[in-house]
Amino acid sequence: MEVTKIFLDEDEIPKRWYNIQADLKTPLDPPLNPTTKEPIKPDDLKIIFPMELIKQEVSQEKYIRIPEEILDVYRIWRPTPLYRAVKLEKKLKTPAKIFYKWEGVSPPGSHKPNTAIAQAYYNMKEGVERLTTETGAGQWGSALAFGTCLFDLECTIYMVKISYEQKPYRRILMKAWGAECIPSPSNVTQAGRRILEKDPNSPGSLGIAISEAIEDAATHDDTKYSLGSVLNHVVLHQTIIGLEAKRQLESIDLYPDMVFGCVGGGSNFSGLAFPFVKDKLNGKKPDLDVIACEPMACPTLTKGIYTYDFGDTAQMTPLLKMYTLGHDFVPPPIHAGGLRYHGDAPLLCKLVNERIIEARAFYQNEVFKAADLFAKTEGFLIAPETAHCVKAVIDEALRCKETGEEKVLLFNNSGHGYFDLSAYDAYYEGKLPDYEYPEELVKKALANLSRI
Ligand SMILES: *Cc1c(COP(=O)(O)O)cnc(C)c1O
Repeated sequence: MEVTKIFLDEDEIPKRWYNIQADLKTPLDPPLNPTTKEPIKPDDLKIIFPMELIKQEVSQEKYIRIPEEILDVYRIWRPTPLYRAVKLEKKLKTPAKIFYKWEGVSPPGSHKPNTAIAQAYYNMKEGVERLTTETGAGQWGSALAFGTCLFDLECTIYMVKISYEQKPYRRILMKAWGAECIPSPSNVTQAGRRILEKDPNSPGSLGIAISEAIEDAATHDDTKYSLGSVLNHVVLHQTIIGLEAKRQLESIDLYPDMVFGCVGGGSNFSGLAFPFVKDKLNGKKPDLDVIACEPMACPTLTKGIYTYDFGDTAQMTPLLKMYTLGHDFVPPPIHAGGLRYHGDAPLLCKLVNERIIEARAFYQNEVFKAADLFAKTEGFLIAPETAHCVKAVIDEALRCKETGEEKVLLFNNSGHGYFDLSAYDAYYEGKLPDYEYPEELVKKALANLSRI
């Protein structure tokens, strides 16, 4: 009988996060001040982030200790199980061994609370009373609502108005965890009012919601802002996924040949992959293949440009060196809402640029087909975001069938799909279009960026 899942005991939760900045051959290009274009000073960030997170953002320490109070909350659902997808392997008749880390067991149903809990904790320690953030479909908003709830902070979430109206379930979850969820653009901020004056029926966008959340934090002394992906400290907190997975595979004497994850802003992928990429960087496992998976409709890593760009449409955030489709990128309405960001984590982008990590892009119908096969074999109905890397894993497993290779494939199963049933419905009804983001628009965005 093959092993189906591997658990760790509660006391085997990693006690430190892994910081890949310590193992980079050359340092990360610094974020730039949006007005002066000079490297940002830690003090510039103090108005929106607590000191400890600013320190983690630039830290060169290889390991950062996880405070006991954070571990105590992690223990609600961590360590998460590592599954072997035996039934999917059988169906594919592949000699490859497929493993996945299952992050859908957290209360909000994804990997996002790994950082939400940590961010809420450090803000609480520094006397902050309220956090603000933005959310699109609501995955990040619900995770931060959960985190702030457990550390007794208030939480204000600016949710893109069209999602607020069309996707009520995660908004209700935010309410259950005590957060205030405001449809954006709103009357609460100047940024919101300015949009509403021009267009009272604006459906909102992530860029507008970011501007509102930052303005709210910057104009209130007891309030700070929180981001759910992209930044170094967010990626750091997510490495608990890969550190656990490494131990779990070690316990059955295996090491992956290939590691996969889906990429929105890059946090869950990097969280699983970086503890393994460490061994690729230091020569312990030089032939490891690390595959970042994204939508054809938002092909940041496969078609984007590696340059400095703003994190938001309103050009308020620091400039980050990353692959980008341009800060005025308007995502096509694909159903993997969490994968529609124009940029990606600078750490991940640097490693893609140095060919340590490879990127692949997929159409949404082939992605849902993979998710459907996964549900029919492994049982779990996964998030449409996650399904992007399942598609890549299935392709690889079928390649192994041709060559007879017994590769060990590992992917991050970043969340469940129970709040995305209408997307599955559209797929089963044959109503999902396949988008490919056109090369001309990338070139046009480059023209806009060269002025920075
Ligand atoms: C938000 C989300 C993603 C994408 O975000 P990353 O920062 O790239 O990890 C992927 N999967 C799920 C389930 C999500 O909720």
